[in-house]
Amino acid sequence: MQRKYLLLPLLLLLAACSPNTPPLTNSTLSNDEPVVRKHPKNIILMIGDGMGLTQITAGLYKNGNKLNLEKFPIVGLQKSYSGDNLVTDSAAGATAFSAGVKTYNGAIGVRMDSTAVKTILEEAEERGMATGMIATSTIVHATPAAFIAHVKSRNDYEDIAADFLKTNIDFFVGGGKSYFDKRKDGRDLIGELRSKNYFVSSTDEEDLTKVAVDFNRNFAFFTADADPAPVSKGRDYLTPATKLATLFLEKKSDKGFFLMVEGSQIDWGGHGNNSDYIISEMIDFDKAIGAALDFAKEDGETLIVITADHETGGYAINTGSTMDNIIPGFTTKSHTAVLIPVFAYGPGSELFGGIYENTAIYDKMRLAFGF
Ligand SMILES: [Zn+2]
Repeated sequence: MQRKYLLLPLLLLLAACSPNTPPLTNSTLSNDEPVVRKHPKNIILMIGDGMGLTQITAGLYKNGNKLNLEKFPIVGLQKSYSGDNLVTDSAAGATAFSAGVKTYNGAIGVRMDSTAVKTILEEAEERGMATGMIATSTIVHATPAAFIAHVKSRNDYEDIAADFLKTNIDFFVGGGKSYFDKRKDGRDLIGELRSKNYFVSSTDEEDLTKVAVDFNRNFAFFTADADPAPVSKGRDYLTPATKLATLFLEKKSDKGFFLMVEGSQIDWGGHGNNSDYIISEMIDFDKAIGAALDFAKEDGETLIVITADHETGGYAINTGSTMDNIIPGFTTKSHTAVLIPVFAYGPGSELFGGIYENTAIYDKMRLAFGF
């Protein structure tokens, strides 16, 4: 017992001596965490990749000064830094949400020491709940990957795709079909999915909105061989996929569901320092938020949590701008470390006010579910 008391000042001293190394935090729930008034049956976690406050603001003004995000009664802020960098990447950011650990940039569902850490999607599955993911990037890209795969590097796309087969995820929609059927190891993951009772289709074969959905099978739909197009070049599936996912997952299990929806390309607009790209992707993401909100209002048992992994671009709205004409500024082509907003609606939403670590998103979702 004595040893613990000696360790604490030593740890504090170490933390104070290394300002570039953020302290590792696993337990991010404070002792005075509010009690959940009513547990949600379902959680929809929506991640706008690279969606900082300026991205939201620019989308809001260019959308006629309104966004569905304004309908969320609870707003908080989270600290996005990773286990090895004040400026996180999407892999470490998503692993914080999916598994509650601060890990190194590039890590997919693994801790600082590269060991696998169980994700909330896997925990939901173990409890017999339905699970789903939607992305406007490839489905093996860092954000969705961190909920389902456990690999040392976000670039191991084929390994990430193979990890989908180790789960029973009920529903997924996104790009990256080639990581499933044109692989270096020769495996045909599409065939393997079908033999696991998945319905598998793609935009090459049919329109997502016209698919005859079989609720007795799992559902996989590929929106591109590689990266899906930007919304400005005709991509329009995020809202219909979100609607379909909620209907599908609700039917799939009477124990509830966990759904992750990513607006992936807000980040890519930021990397390109392209304000119009950011804004069109932000507005597209907000439409999907509207669809999720319609479901949650009707359902009454669904918690929606919306946040971002980090901000991208050091994006600013400069002097001389009007609501119709945003004059952008950027400080970087990379990510930044600003605090990131969190929006919550539905049973359990009261947990999400205040300022907390990004890992607390995971802790709070588990608390809300009653895990
Ligand atoms: Zn990025």
